[in-house]
Amino acid sequence: MLDALIVGAGMSGILAAIKLKEAGFGNILIVDKAASLGGTWWDNRYPGCACDVPSHFYSYSFAPNPDWSSIFPRQEEILAYFEKIADTYALRPLMRFNTELASADFDAGTNCWNITAKGGERLQSRLLFFATGQLSRPLMPVYPGMESFTGRIFHSARWDHDHDLTGKKVAVIGTGPTAAQFVPEIVGKVDKLVVFQRTANWFFSRNDKPYSSFAKGMFRNVPGAMRLHRLMIYTALESRWPAFKQGSFMAKYLTGQLKKLLAEAVPDPALRAKLTPDYPVGCKRIIIADDFLPALQKPNVHLETSGISSVTENAIIDKDGTRHDVDTIIYGTGFEATDFLVPIRVTGTSGQELSQVWKNGAEAYQGATVAGFPNMFILYGPNTNLGHNSIIFMVENQMKHVMALVKAMRARNLKAIDVKADVMTAYNVWLQNQLTTSVWNAGCRSWYINGSGKITQNWPSSTFSWWRRMRKTNLADFQLIQ
Ligand code: NAP
Repeated sequence: MLDALIVGAGMSGILAAIKLKEAGFGNILIVDKAASLGGTWWDNRYPGCACDVPSHFYSYSFAPNPDWSSIFPRQEEILAYFEKIADTYALRPLMRFNTELASADFDAGTNCWNITAKGGERLQSRLLFFATGQLSRPLMPVYPGMESFTGRIFHSARWDHDHDLTGKKVAVIGTGPTAAQFVPEIVGKVDKLVVFQRTANWFFSRNDKPYSSFAKGMFRNVPGAMRLHRLMIYTALESRWPAFKQGSFMAKYLTGQLKKLLAEAVPDPALRAKLTPDYPVGCKRIIIADDFLPALQKPNVHLETSGISSVTENAIIDKDGTRHDVDTIIYGTGFEATDFLVPIRVTGTSGQELSQVWKNGAEAYQGATVAGFPNMFILYGPNTNLGHNSIIFMVENQMKHVMALVKAMRARNLKAIDVKADVMTAYNVWLQNQLTTSVWNAGCRSWYINGSGKITQNWPSSTFSWWRRMRKTNLADFQLIQ
């Protein structure tokens, strides 16, 4: 019997393992469906992949890195950071890859989780941690005629590095943060590029800069320098939070600024009209990029906004009936975010399935616990995402709350801990009420919102308020099962 099974060897799973080990839990297994650790930073290795949160703050507070090469380093460097952490904390022996869960069933008799992997292997664990992220399953829309396409098709999170794009006629579907990173990288290689945009986005300058050796030396040798730098980044990012409330002064100010940036970047009024969003800034994730708008204006690029009607053996036909000859289609279409754990069949105390409990939209208490599913903890779960700051900050603080529960279980010799249903309901009523005035509720389509219009992904307030909330865990909110 395991003390804890952690599902996911990315940022959250690594964090969970470190904190559990520090607290003396020895018998831990981390499984991941991928072939190695790193989560999103393992999966996403498309050209230009980088973080849009400055890495001095996109790193664990307990493991700062004085050697970040620049403000927004690339995927390779971020992956290397997580690999180094896994080595430092001796986590690799606890990890098992190419292992995907089929089901997890809580046994109310033994108060344990019985887990089955897709290969049929069975495991038993006292505690179950889901650290599967919000963006791990690629979304690939199907178009009529797709099966007849004879060229190459792949998703940004499954980039085909063996497929040389030199001289190719390429279609990119989607213009989200991912496409905005890889389009500038491939535009100079391909013969022709047609970019299919369904919805325009707001852009903010990236302004990346390398850290000098002097700065790195300061971070390494001057006590407090790196902490101060982290604090400065945190404060700068957090100061944007008021812009995420509909109609706020900050929202109006930012809209003006971003309109100006767009006008400067795209002088052609017809192209600019296509690229001008019809929803408030922040409703969809603001794209931090300096090179995407210039890339769209290269002579070999066409921005198509009429939509895709069908695909033939060597072309995409748009909704205006125009044929675009292509030999490669790259999906930058994002991920199935709002389903959370749904592909894994998770059953709780009385056999209820999590997918049924969540049929109107995923919800949890503090994004971590679900009533009727004892000893199960979700990291970066429902309503813990942000549009303006580092997710590592969110998950580290969430883990403090989870560790308070786990430590209480051990101190009180509890067999199980289960959030009270009324507490979880009241929390979610409050949370959804807060979200009504958020900019994410301003009528745009995004991965923050599920099919029935519920915002299932985002935290409705500042990260400071999350930090405060996560510091105190009230055991009266939970059923303590002896
Ligand atoms: P995304 O934001 O969900 O964007 C997907 C794009 O594909 C959108 O333009 C979307 O259009 C389009 N699309 C989806 N389904 C379509 C369909 N059926 N037909 C036509 N177009 C379709 O996905 P993403 O760009 O991969 O980014 C996801 C998230 O990952 C980001 O929000 C961000 O949080 C994270 N990310 C972060 C970084 C970073 O630097 N840290 C970089 C990349 C990604 P609509 O807008 O009309 O839906």
